[in-house]
Amino acid sequence: ATLTAVMVGTGVGASQGVLIKGGQALERAHKVNCIVFDKTGTLTMGKPVVVKTKLLKNMVLREFYELVAATEVNSEHPLAKAIVEYAKKFRDDEENPAWPEACDFVSITGKGVKATVKGREIMVGNKNLMNDHKVIIPDDAEELLADSEDMAQTGILVSINSELIGVLSVSDPLKPSAREAISILKSMNIKSIMVTGDNWGTANSIAREVGIDSVIAEAKPEQKAEKVKELQAAGHVVAMVGDGINDSPALVAADVGMAIGAGTDIAIEAADIVLMKSNLEDVITAIDLSRKTFSRIR
Ligand code: ADP
Ligand code: MG
Repeated sequence: ATLTAVMVGTGVGASQGVLIKGGQALERAHKVNCIVFDKTGTLTMGKPVVVKTKLLKNMVLREFYELVAATEVNSEHPLAKAIVEYAKKFRDDEENPAWPEACDFVSITGKGVKATVKGREIMVGNKNLMNDHKVIIPDDAEELLADSEDMAQTGILVSINSELIGVLSVSDPLKPSAREAISILKSMNIKSIMVTGDNWGTANSIAREVGIDSVIAEAKPEQKAEKVKELQAAGHVVAMVGDGINDSPALVAADVGMAIGAGTDIAIEAADIVLMKSNLEDVITAIDLSRKTFSRIR
């Protein structure tokens, strides 16, 4: 393709909300035959909502959510935002915006968060987080987690002073464009794979809903990138679509990194293409544009 064609291609992309950072990205996109998708915020809305709370110990919900929100308010994770939003409804004073102070806040990527609030150590996260800290997960909590996963929801555990106190269920619906996009990609002979830090149960339920049959769950950020490299080594030209800090290594490793516009700045910087409308159909828009610019047919 001529330089003019590339400029036209990038220009058309920009006018449709598909920002292509340079001719190379536009060129590589038409060769893509395999796409790795992040789940949360990419295939799903990334606006999760708390749909259920179960307390295993005698505790007032308002007090429970105050401790949980004081911890999660320090996290950037979409799950944390959902929990803090939900916690607001238990406050008697809606006018007073401050949560109790949290000390020693730590965020453990792919696992959850930890902090000390009102002299108590609060942990909010998944089973791995609890296992790492030797918190015992009782059978009823395991059952609640399994139920959430079957319904494509994410179960989140809360411990106070190393004792498991509550289980939250968070629902993050699919983007309206997700099923359609995956089905069109299939008809274009492009293979879709979902890679997520979320647990296997939830991941499989979401994958079934969206129509993806290849799933990798409980993946650390470096494993997302490793998967991309593994596919490349097997001869695939790989695109990665993601929104989070944890997707950045994979976005860089991919032949074409595509960031969701509503995603984090770090992901947007790491990507070759930015989908400004955060719409999955624009993955196809980008590939089509590249095909039109670089293939001799038409
Ligand atoms: P994804 O790859 O789907 O975007 P992440 O790797 O960001 O998921 O997170 C994986 C899992 O770690 C979440 O499903 C959740 O169980 C747990 N987790 C991470 N951060 C938090 C948090 N701030 N609060 C509660 N749980 C968290
Ligand atoms: Mg994500």
